[in-house]
Amino acid sequence: MSLDDWQLVVGLEVHAELATNTKIFCGCANSFGDEPNTNVCPVCLGLPGSLPVLNRSAVEFAARLGMALECTVQPSVFHRKNYFYPDMPKDYQVSQYDLPINADGTLELPDGSVVGIERAHLEEDTGKTTHMGGGGRIHDAAYSLVDYNRAGVPLVEIVSRPDIRTPEQAQAYATELRAILAATGVSDAKMEEGSMRVDANVSMHKPGEPYGTRCEIKNLNSVRSLGRAIRYEMERQVQLLESGERIVQETRHWDEDAGRTRPGRSKEQAEDYRYFQEPDLVPVAPDDEWLASIRAAMPMLPAARRTRLAAQTGGDVDVALVVERGLDDLVLEAIAAGGDPGRLLVHASNNLSAGAGELSARPFAELSKLEATGALTATQAKTVLAELVTAGGDPAAIAATRGFEAMGDDALAAAVDAAIAADPEAWEKFKAGDRKVTGFFVGLVMKTTKGKADGKAVTALLDARAQS
Ligand code: ZN
Ligand code: MN
Repeated sequence: MSLDDWQLVVGLEVHAELATNTKIFCGCANSFGDEPNTNVCPVCLGLPGSLPVLNRSAVEFAARLGMALECTVQPSVFHRKNYFYPDMPKDYQVSQYDLPINADGTLELPDGSVVGIERAHLEEDTGKTTHMGGGGRIHDAAYSLVDYNRAGVPLVEIVSRPDIRTPEQAQAYATELRAILAATGVSDAKMEEGSMRVDANVSMHKPGEPYGTRCEIKNLNSVRSLGRAIRYEMERQVQLLESGERIVQETRHWDEDAGRTRPGRSKEQAEDYRYFQEPDLVPVAPDDEWLASIRAAMPMLPAARRTRLAAQTGGDVDVALVVERGLDDLVLEAIAAGGDPGRLLVHASNNLSAGAGELSARPFAELSKLEATGALTATQAKTVLAELVTAGGDPAAIAATRGFEAMGDDALAAAVDAAIAADPEAWEKFKAGDRKVTGFFVGLVMKTTKGKADGKAVTALLDARAQS
């Protein structure tokens, strides 16, 4: 089997829960992790006689996302999508069908490739079933529990065009979309809590030939799983195709532990959802003024933030990570306060996590300056930074408390010479090119200088001594 003869085609469907305070058609709280079946009412339980009222914030969030994805934001209509599942008490899901709120957008990835967005429509989430006893799947369950807290939580379903050609590009798309959802405040987009869920339509074909039959992979709850599942599915499909078999169009579930997909529902007969217009809701037609105000309040998007940070720091590799962690504003403020751009970027990418705790821009700038002037070594700066994150304070004062005064060149040279003299045998090995003893000498110098020496400077001095 050779994957090289085959071309992968992937389209992604992403469901994101909107970060509204209440559900889409009732006043119940939209909140994750509450006691089951406490955020419910006649509307989201689908009781007879109850009527939906559309949540204005849900429409606003959906429109904001549509604008961020360069979609046409248009008048839209809700439909009933009829199917039976016990987590959906009405026996239909209110969704959008032929007139979605957002259509025809694009998403540009950090590598410059562009993935088309077919639509990003509004709909309601279902409840959550938990299958008890057995393997957690409905087939071998003794019984199932259902929690309707999630029923009626507003969703946008973002449907990409089948423009994705590699597993890595699919992962980049999910990562970028997650960043946009978070940056716009539209969703917290936590895949591990299910507020962003990814389904992948995967098919293989020979270049120049029509697209192959696709399978839809469900249950992808991390970017890593998305990549693994696509890679698995590529091999499975090519193996079948090369042995002359055909691909059955079906839904498949990703099993993270087993590292494979398993067949679910067959989709050979097109499902008949008997869509019809939701008679209890009027069409949504936001006026231009409101849409203009949503557009005017659009925050800077990740792509623009990456460009801005790269321009000010001269960095490239770390920029995406720093923006993803939301640390770019902190770095830019610290640069404005006179900090060293390169060192700030390195710390933000290597030594800080999202939020950065008690660290604020001015001390962060001061720290990078102490490091740039040689008053603190990289190791010492890292220690001071950790303390700034947990407790805040003044970097110079923290360094003084810890006894991190600058180590002069002469003192460092003396410490290195003392270490060499302490073990002539090891020194002969070093001179003969055995670099395994480098760590031994650096450790010795660190010990005698009580950690004040800069490891890199010690190594450089050792090399210089060995050469002379
Ligand atoms: Zn409700
Ligand atoms: Mn959907």
